[in-house]
Amino acid sequence: MLPANVKLIAVSKLHTVDEIYTAYKAGQKIFGENKAQELSSKYPELPEDIEWHFIGHLQTNKVKYIAPFVSCIHSVDSYKLLMEINKYAKKNNSVINCLLQFYIATEESKFGFTLSEAVSLLNMPEYKELNNVKICGVMGMASFTDDNDLIRSEFKELKNIFDILKLDFFNENEAFKEISMGMSQDYQIAIEEGSTMVRIGTAIFGERNY
Ligand SMILES: *Cc1c(COP(=O)(O)O)cnc(C)c1O
Repeated sequence: MLPANVKLIAVSKLHTVDEIYTAYKAGQKIFGENKAQELSSKYPELPEDIEWHFIGHLQTNKVKYIAPFVSCIHSVDSYKLLMEINKYAKKNNSVINCLLQFYIATEESKFGFTLSEAVSLLNMPEYKELNNVKICGVMGMASFTDDNDLIRSEFKELKNIFDILKLDFFNENEAFKEISMGMSQDYQIAIEEGSTMVRIGTAIFGERNY
């Protein structure tokens, strides 16, 4: 179904532990959640070898709930958040994989860095002291629209940001390789534009009940 180089993050927010376990038994091992409390309450109910990815806006005061077990945080959108993740990873003697989230959509409601903000962060001397976070790539959400040309141009923008950061900051760093883009509605376009991680909820679990 998906190309071999593209990882599927099954987005299980608002779905039950039973539904997640069914997908797990069918072979899915990576799940994504967007609320710290929801994730930390599901985590103890499910098998240890699940790789949990955090994909939603994360408040700094919630980092401590997920830091002990989370594999990857896709939604790092401030230096303050990155410092907090580093702090709790250090407490747990671990290194947490992080993606920098970029603002690529036309909607005001979305979060993320601009390229120049990320460049400033990566140039800060303090950034180099953060030994318990590993920046593995970038993440973005396209506009919620039927305009596939717009969606494609936003994904191209994220790929371009990835390429610039790779060249300028992570050239020698093999860990910097992920482009997290694409959801149920737009993952095919995202894959054509270079996605390495698609975050798919509805197309796997059905509609969510809010
Ligand atoms: C909910 C969510 C998804 C999955 O969306 P679907 O349309 O259900 O596939 C992907 N990424 C983020 C950040 C989300 O919050």
